[in-house]
Amino acid sequence: AKGSGRGTYSYFAPSMTADARAQLQLIHELGQALGRREFVLHYQPKFEAGSGVLAGAEALLRWNHPERGLLAPADFIDLAERTGLILQIGEWVLDEACRQLRAWREQGRPPLAVAVNLSALQFSHPELVATVGRALRAHDVPPEQLILEITESTAMQDVEASHAVLEALSALGVRLSIDDFGTGYSSLLYLKRLPANELKIDRGFVSELARGSEDAAIVSAIVALGDALELTVVGEGVETRAQLEVLSELGCDALQGYLLGRPVPVEEFRFDGSAECRP
Ligand code: C2E
Ligand code: CA
Ligand code: CA
Ligand code: CA
Repeated sequence: AKGSGRGTYSYFAPSMTADARAQLQLIHELGQALGRREFVLHYQPKFEAGSGVLAGAEALLRWNHPERGLLAPADFIDLAERTGLILQIGEWVLDEACRQLRAWREQGRPPLAVAVNLSALQFSHPELVATVGRALRAHDVPPEQLILEITESTAMQDVEASHAVLEALSALGVRLSIDDFGTGYSSLLYLKRLPANELKIDRGFVSELARGSEDAAIVSAIVALGDALELTVVGEGVETRAQLEVLSELGCDALQGYLLGRPVPVEEFRFDGSAECRP
């Protein structure tokens, strides 16, 4: 790029690839999205494996982009993380989930636990505990109704720091879930010390799950670990009746997946537990 400087007015733009320009545009739009109220949460139900009773919901972020329609996190979360915008967006997600919990309570709905995903940057941010506390108080939400999900790899990035943050969150009374479990390399000793309440088995072990397979052995091991440490074990990404049966047989406590209920806008979320297919 560093040519002689002739024609400086057209110096950067032509040398930028279309991709780079599209990305700058997206960063710009992402920065405006909060103020324009373009984000929305969809909710996916989670069911008890044995009874099929509705056990909670996971809040999943969507961006209602003015031109490109409804975008999933895969389209923008990375960018939000790299630009730091995820901090403000994540704060909005926490507040919105708590606002919804209060709205449901005011509508007379039975208390439901809602899970919110935290990004690595949010998790390592010194204000996280204060932010979570503020959201709970702002909407008068009982802390045990909020579940915070962090991925195993995020939790393992800095073991000592994670431990301190999880202890502080736990002291607030919120519940903690280790997401995408099984892909990292948590030592058992470390896991034992974590004040977590739930393990979510990574979808990768569920997608081709069959009786007697290697994936089944891994799921069994995670269930045994969960039992030993008194953690709820959730199987996610359940798309078929066969996966549901194997996960139940292997002793998963709760199940989530398209088979049981897709993430939906709040107006379509059903409390009657009538998933298209009950566990
Ligand atoms: P995740 O936390 O592992 O969430 C599960 C993802 O799997 C969601 O994708 C969900 O829609 C999808 N899913 C659920 N059931 C099935 C199924 O049966 N089959 C398949 N193939 N997929 C299923 P989604 O909503 O696109 O979110 C992707 C990821 O983006 C999430 O993975 C999470 O890591 C991240 N994410 C979502 N919302 C937020 C948020 O508010 N903040 C942050 N930091 N990350 C978020
Ligand atoms: Ca999650
Ligand atoms: Ca997951
Ligand atoms: Ca168990």
